[in-house]
Amino acid sequence: MLAETYPYAVAELDFRNPFELLVATVLSAQTTDVRVNLTTPALFARYPDARSLAEAAEDELQEMIRPTGFFRAKSRSLLALATRIVDDFDGEVPGRLEDLVTLPGVGRKTANVVLANAFGVPGISVDTHFGRLSRRFGWTTEEDPVKVEFDVAALFERRDWTMLSHRVIFHGRRICHAKKPACGVCPVASLCPSYGEGEVDPDKARKLLKYELAPGREELHRRMVEGASRAELLAAGHTLSA
Ligand code: SF4
Repeated sequence: MLAETYPYAVAELDFRNPFELLVATVLSAQTTDVRVNLTTPALFARYPDARSLAEAAEDELQEMIRPTGFFRAKSRSLLALATRIVDDFDGEVPGRLEDLVTLPGVGRKTANVVLANAFGVPGISVDTHFGRLSRRFGWTTEEDPVKVEFDVAALFERRDWTMLSHRVIFHGRRICHAKKPACGVCPVASLCPSYGEGEVDPDKARKLLKYELAPGREELHRRMVEGASRAELLAAGHTLSA
């Protein structure tokens, strides 16, 4: 059902290679993917790889990533990260979980995002949305992201893990919000043990929808279902924020 609702679900961070996805994922902490996507084109033009980033001047780097918030801590993380990739991995982002999690600022969630989306290794990315929805769906009772990951992994085929992550995270951002889920217009309501936790009146629930599902965004939604890229949608004048 989620696959039918979000046939266009993908990683919402823009990237062209593992290095870019790793940097974008570090920057995405405590901010939106939309904001990160506005920041990274100039950043990657200036620092296209780990070697150039490792040699960046800290004040210049801070200025470039300032819009993503926590820019001092993030710039320190990025410099340490790039330096380790250069020193220990010959400048290339490693493609194994056990190596990725040794990089400064890279936890299991970030490592799984990079492996799944840049290396094609099936992975479950337990962010705040995925954890919350897994509990609402009854897939787990755990709060700890690693325990959630293992519980959900036991329920689904490995080959489905990456797309499952995208679809659940899309659903959490658009319909099954933390504070007020839009149960009244939810496509999985008939299966959900938590139906009724949010707004059940369809008209009121519809007003809670976000991004391309928000009322008045029908054209954007149609283009996304047709497979338009984020760049094409932005060029056509659509805003992709909530
Ligand atoms: S029915 Fe409500 S709680 Fe369940 S998935 Fe849908 S929006 Fe979330």
